[in-house]
Amino acid sequence: MRLWRYLWPLPITLFGLILAGIVKASGGACQRYGNALEASNGAASRLLWLMNPWANIEAITLGHVILARNTDTAARLRTHEHTHVRQYERWGVIFPFAYLTSSAIAVIKGGDAYRDNVFEREAFAVQLEGERRIKH
Ligand SMILES: [Zn+2]
Repeated sequence: MRLWRYLWPLPITLFGLILAGIVKASGGACQRYGNALEASNGAASRLLWLMNPWANIEAITLGHVILARNTDTAARLRTHEHTHVRQYERWGVIFPFAYLTSSAIAVIKGGDAYRDNVFEREAFAVQLEGERRIKH
């Protein structure tokens, strides 16, 4: 069943690996952390801008690949983005659709497409719990 966690989101991971290759080819950094590859620096900022020029994205998770503006951002958002990796392991290739559906439901309910998305709420909760654990 362990293999399934990698196979299920594989098409999206492969897309992430192409972007990681562009980051690496542009002088960026690629490092493995846990079961994800973190790609940062180089063309990472421009690629994030291309994905959504209006949202000012700092990092995005694509299957088992995390694309972050720079290594500092990758470290700061690590707990949050790795929560998205686990969400990809659960939802696989349909995760982006589930994510967008959750954003749509949030907006219909009068909330925020990002902050009130159930997947983001889980990621922020895990991040907050991690920060609390460091402080105590
Ligand atoms: Zn997030």
